[in-house]
Amino acid sequence: MRDASQAVLDRVSSSNAVYERALGAYLGLALGDALGATVEFMTPREIALRFEKQGGVHRHIIGGGWLKLVRGQVTDDTTMSLALGAALLQGQREGRPFDTRLIADAYVAWWRGKPVDCGNTCRRGIQRYLRDGSLAGPQQDSDGGNGALMRNLPVALATLGNDALFERVSLAQAHVTHHHALSDAAVLGIGYLLRALLAGEDRLAEQAQALAAAHRAFRFQPYPGRASGYVVDTVQTVLHCVTTHDDFEAAVIAAVNRGDDADTTGALVGMLAGARCGASRLPRHWLNRLQRGVLLDITEQASALLALSMSPRAAPAADPHPF
Ligand code: MN
Ligand code: MN
Repeated sequence: MRDASQAVLDRVSSSNAVYERALGAYLGLALGDALGATVEFMTPREIALRFEKQGGVHRHIIGGGWLKLVRGQVTDDTTMSLALGAALLQGQREGRPFDTRLIADAYVAWWRGKPVDCGNTCRRGIQRYLRDGSLAGPQQDSDGGNGALMRNLPVALATLGNDALFERVSLAQAHVTHHHALSDAAVLGIGYLLRALLAGEDRLAEQAQALAAAHRAFRFQPYPGRASGYVVDTVQTVLHCVTTHDDFEAAVIAAVNRGDDADTTGALVGMLAGARCGASRLPRHWLNRLQRGVLLDITEQASALLALSMSPRAAPAADPHPF
């Protein structure tokens, strides 16, 4: 009897630890997005001049930027993730687990909701789906942006413990808008970094090296210094920042001050660094700035998606929409 209750307690505390890291990752994504959006498309030099009074470093969530955001507002990186997460949960409720069509419909609904921004490749993919109902476009060079990578966190959470399912759903959600070998490699590679952190394994440096060895385009040492929306530049910047800085805040600040696609590099660094430190160690002064609704949606989704990964229905026998 004592053994059985100890086993239950162990399970609860280990799932609490996973939840703590999952929530850290999801909130970290939103924090990096909100911080980085202020300086998106600026150069490091422009950022240093603009924030001269703060030692040349942008470090506070203040909104603004080219999107003229209110303080604490997030952009497509976070809201597309939430749309994807909601589609995965809807699939579970409706007995259509991991149905790619629900994901594509969620992207359409997201886009029709007039998001504050939408990348060109995302828009093109959504319009193609609306036009012909296809869940993936042909593989093409112009699909090498980071738009599929930036939003894949919910899939990592919902498929924990099932790598085959993780890979299938990740690529399916990606291909709705981005069909490119390096985008695929980034989605899976960064996803596996995240999954290891969620499992409590801190092998980030080693895994980052392995990812760069497997896909030489992602080599980040020495750091080439580009932080654009091209998935190669994004991955290099993310790997450089998370392996150079152990501290959450330092890692995210380093990423966004590279400028360019700062909200997306910030979001991805925030995701990995947040999984590493856990939600309770995220900076309070940043969390307090985050939009209330986003904070609540993320908190709810993080636990529901983890629960989905533990549900027996999580692994459908076959892909209803193979491509
Ligand atoms: Mn964005
Ligand atoms: Mn961006």
